[in-house]
Amino acid sequence: QQEEFYCRITNNIESLEQLHKIQDQANRDYLTSLYNRRYFCEQGEILLKQAKSAGTEIALVAIDLDYFKSVNDEYGHEAGDEVLRFFSAELKNILGRFLIARIGGEEFCVIVSGLSNAKVVSLIDGFKQHVAAQIIDVTDEDILRISFSAGITNNKLDNLNAMLNLADEYLYRAKEAGRNMVVGDD
Ligand code: GH3
Ligand code: MG
Ligand code: MG
Repeated sequence: QQEEFYCRITNNIESLEQLHKIQDQANRDYLTSLYNRRYFCEQGEILLKQAKSAGTEIALVAIDLDYFKSVNDEYGHEAGDEVLRFFSAELKNILGRFLIARIGGEEFCVIVSGLSNAKVVSLIDGFKQHVAAQIIDVTDEDILRISFSAGITNNKLDNLNAMLNLADEYLYRAKEAGRNMVVGDD
């Protein structure tokens, strides 16, 4: 039966599309649509292994928005969410060719392959200046500006988690040194 044949094919295609959609949703953060921590760690581990065997550069960038709590306190949680979506869109626009994830509340990570630490630091520094120059409309009356701090390591450590910890340590130094700052291995 021709009709039965096409009906079954269509049903199968629809099932596969649903499956892909669910898989993709499971890998993403609901608020920003960026990849989530689990997917980032899985893929990052693969990228790290590849970089090790090919002898190529790999950098892990840890980013945390500065004084984000005060955005929520001053403008409300909705506005905070809006800022997170805004920042995520900027990340996608400018660093979209790399693996980007929202790791936690106002914390993001990027894996940059193939660039030296100095180059990644200058890339993220440029992004930092771009973000600082943006004006965000959070409510009808209010506008605000944001900044972030970042820690970057190119050390190919034992695993991704070790790199994440080191980048976090640099991030902490950037915060201690006054925020709106990028700290790399050098
Ligand atoms: P620092 O410069 O040291 O990073 O200060 P901070 O205020 O950015 O950091 P802190 O850890 O004190 O505050 C983070 C805030 O992020 C607190 C939490 O309520 C808020 N937050 C986390 N996830 C979300 C979210 O999904 N939406 C909104 N609106 N706020 C969030
Ligand atoms: Mg934080
Ligand atoms: Mg913060």
